Amino acid sequence: MKINKVKKVLVLICLLLNFVVISSSKTDIKFITAVQVIVNAQKIIELPVYKIDKTEEKYISIKDLAKIFSATLTYYHVGKYVSFNCRGERIYFFYNKNFFIHSKQRIQLSANVLNVHNRTFVPITILNNTTFTNILNATVEFRQNENLVMVNWIDTVVVSYYINNNDVIRIEIRYLKNTQYDYNLDDRKITLTFFNNKVSPKEYRIEHSIISKIKLYPENGNVRTEILLNNSFVQIKKEEFKDRIVLFIEEQSRLAEQRKVYKDKEVTNTAQNLSLKSNNKKPLVVIDPGHGGEDPGAIGKYGTKEKHINLAIAKIIKEELLSEDYKVLLTREDDISLALVERTKFANDNNADLFISIHCNASKKQTNTDHGVEVYFLSEKASDEDAVATEKLENEVVLKYERPTEELNKLQKILWSMIVTDYINESSRLCSYIGTEITARTKQQYRGVKQAGFYVLRGAQMPAVLVEVGFISNPDEELKLNSLDFQRLVANGIAAGIKKYYENNK
Ligand SMILES: [Zn+2]
Repeated sequence: MKINKVKKVLVLICLLLNFVVISSSKTDIKFITAVQVIVNAQKIIELPVYKIDKTEEKYISIKDLAKIFSATLTYYHVGKYVSFNCRGERIYFFYNKNFFIHSKQRIQLSANVLNVHNRTFVPITILNNTTFTNILNATVEFRQNENLVMVNWIDTVVVSYYINNNDVIRIEIRYLKNTQYDYNLDDRKITLTFFNNKVSPKEYRIEHSIISKIKLYPENGNVRTEILLNNSFVQIKKEEFKDRIVLFIEEQSRLAEQRKVYKDKEVTNTAQNLSLKSNNKKPLVVIDPGHGGEDPGAIGKYGTKEKHINLAIAKIIKEELLSEDYKVLLTREDDISLALVERTKFANDNNADLFISIHCNASKKQTNTDHGVEVYFLSEKASDEDAVATEKLENEVVLKYERPTEELNKLQKILWSMIVTDYINESSRLCSYIGTEITARTKQQYRGVKQAGFYVLRGAQMPAVLVEVGFISNPDEELKLNSLDFQRLVANGIAAGIKKYYENNK
């Protein structure tokens, strides 16, 4: 017994000694935990959190902070400060001071900035500092209990592009209303500078004979957009609006051949416009609740089936639009199976003015953290990786559930060979109204207007869009999608988007 006790005491002393030796000789920077950082629902960084010296404050290294926000750092060792350079902004952190400086303003921090062994640390509370995140135009949600930081960039400049069958490239750049900009065409490069806008750096590679790349990056508080051309013999047509510019780029050699075709088209278009203006009828909107019957669509962790949510939302939209004197038809009013081609055919047969397909998204990623709203219009090529995944998911239905009859096959052949490019501009405009109006109400993340080759939109003889109202694969969003209040907000947003689309069409 006695020997045991002595042993215990000895062990204890050893441990204590060990602790003293380690803590005094090694360093006063103590790793506590690592926090998961999710940027724009994608990039994941492990952020180490430290305690330094005897302070109770938790710290992160300024290098990691820069990594999260894709910032660069400039060290001024003599002046004892660091400049944090991000999206054209400069923020100065001073060693042993509890503030940072931006545009000559001093902003308080919860503790001193520390410089230990040539490493600079800032209090982790900087992530909750709204002055800091507002300067960068990001929203940051720091969930301490879950050890999770969610960063979302708020881009004020958004680019989308589309290449139509006639090889005309349509590039739409949206920006803050009434933005001043510079336009410059220099042999093979179009440069646009949008003053006082924000963006995180982006690069789109495009495989095409006319254009190779679109680049966006911040510069001195402005946004630079570069469109790199492979060919300097191009014709560029510009359309300007308050909040966006649309460029149509095409090769000069093709122009001559097509001039005649265009002319014919213009004549019919004007005729159509006149007839639309002369009769002031309210438009017919076809709402298509995705999936149904034996095809449940995506299924959430709690067992929610996409088809039910889609139908519930579609019915509320119908009510809302009917009360505004719109004509509305649903492709299905009940839980029945309906082939994709039949949905578009229904809209065509009824001479609908708009076609809107309602869906819930599902992420293939294991983290299940993807969330937010995406609005799509039809294109041969998906606009990004997520759009590819969503396109695959929604098109799978055809293989899985649709039993081809001769008639369906015929119909599919006809519709799928038709990509109606006449409605691309209108569809993309409708997309942006719907996306903005939904997210303004639900406060969901706006993942933007995208393009993909959805079968359900093919062959539609009218502006046609597909709305992914939220991620059923994300348990948080699944619960929301089940609540009637949330469904109302979404439906109200879509209805408002449609109204805005028509109001701004006059
Ligand atoms: Zn779906």
